[in-house]
Amino acid sequence: MRFMTAEPFRIKMVEPLKMTTKEQRQQCLKEAGYNAFRLRAEDVYIDCLTDSGTSAMSNKQWSALLLGDESYAGCKSFYKLEKSVQDIFGMPYVQPTHQGRAADYIMTQIYCKPGMYAIGNLHFDTFRGNAEMLGTFPVDQVIDEGLDSASGYHPFKGNLDLNKMQKLIDEKGAEKICVVIITVTCNGNGGQPVSMKNIREVSALAKKYNIPVVIDSARLAENAYFIQQREEGYQNKSIKEITNEMFSYCETATMSSKKDGLVNIGGLFVTRNKDVFAQANQMAIVHEGFITYGGMAGRDLEALAVGLQEGCDEHYLKYRTEQVHYLGEKLKEKGIPIVEPTGGHGVYVDGRRFFPNIPQSEFPSQRLVCALYEEAGVRAVELGACAFGKKDPKTGADIWPELELMRICISRRVYTDRHMDVIANTLGYIYENRDKYTGMKLVYEGPITSLRHFTAGFEML
Ligand SMILES: *Cc1c(COP(=O)(O)O)cnc(C)c1O
Repeated sequence: MRFMTAEPFRIKMVEPLKMTTKEQRQQCLKEAGYNAFRLRAEDVYIDCLTDSGTSAMSNKQWSALLLGDESYAGCKSFYKLEKSVQDIFGMPYVQPTHQGRAADYIMTQIYCKPGMYAIGNLHFDTFRGNAEMLGTFPVDQVIDEGLDSASGYHPFKGNLDLNKMQKLIDEKGAEKICVVIITVTCNGNGGQPVSMKNIREVSALAKKYNIPVVIDSARLAENAYFIQQREEGYQNKSIKEITNEMFSYCETATMSSKKDGLVNIGGLFVTRNKDVFAQANQMAIVHEGFITYGGMAGRDLEALAVGLQEGCDEHYLKYRTEQVHYLGEKLKEKGIPIVEPTGGHGVYVDGRRFFPNIPQSEFPSQRLVCALYEEAGVRAVELGACAFGKKDPKTGADIWPELELMRICISRRVYTDRHMDVIANTLGYIYENRDKYTGMKLVYEGPITSLRHFTAGFEML
């Protein structure tokens, strides 16, 4: 029972937060063009912009930093990391990289070819960018329930749709499919998990056609925990038994260590294929650093070696997923429309259903981001009309996306449930007063529409 356990850690060092007034926050918003990306982090009270690279490290990680040796050929720290990774992934070959996207780059160069298709549940944007630069077509084939925010409970909304996959193979020919990438948990729809059964079946189907399988594993431990909690036959397996089985179905895995690695920077390219490893080593030497450091300092390799193990601890994972769930439940109690079930790393609020009187062309989720910051200094992020809006290539007219959400990302081991209460109470207050809010107008956007949310400027209507 949740009320009988709390955070499985105590706080040994604190970072005081700057407290601001509503007037100050209004001024900050104005100066930032009403764009959360342009706020200064120090003016934020509770920062829920991302869960990437924002984890708090443990005393063991901080002390491991001091053991880090100079990072070059054969450094001691690398072998510690290698051992930790092999233990969790069950694969022999480990190439560190400086971030997840560098592993994506190496993986794309090895597995993708121009004019071919890469199947995924929902491809992450850094892979998508790498694929598109190479001329490979990324195809998203998550199950339909995974795309419908109002479809209610499904335990594994990150699953890949086997029928869609078979159809694409039949239509294009297996020789046109270069790779299948399963992202665990599925970041694109809110950290929804993928079941072991699905990973096994996708892998079997791919194998039948000789298509290699890659797992994008930024949140591998959260996915394993959901499998243990929700999937028949896994209740008595340990997290590492589950991660080892997950990776037994792929040839290669990429990872952004900035999530379940519980560190602030780093990435991994892990494989069981010796030839693939040799190619990855070559590419790492050119782009990242020597094989045994891949652009990371020895101390960062040490902290990651420890962080990966802590990330697989069941008490930690219970606290982690329950905190996200707790915030979701608090919002639901107040009648606030969220995407269900809550995923591994955040809560998504439906901006259109929250502000039914603000049309999508007036950025309801962005308005909610601003209101949440204005009232309580909480920074969330819009995933809606601004982030995913497109332009008709002929007429230049706006095309509004299906998704209209505000994401509240929860950093690992950083905030307490009382911080969650502040977020819930503030959103409850805004929701009660939802009729008083009007929309926004986009007054500045950069030349690349798909990147406009990072620099956009708005005005209140
Ligand atoms: C964060 C992330 C990446 C990219 O990793 P970076 O460390 O930010 O470069 C790739 N895939 C997934 C699923 C991610 O969540």
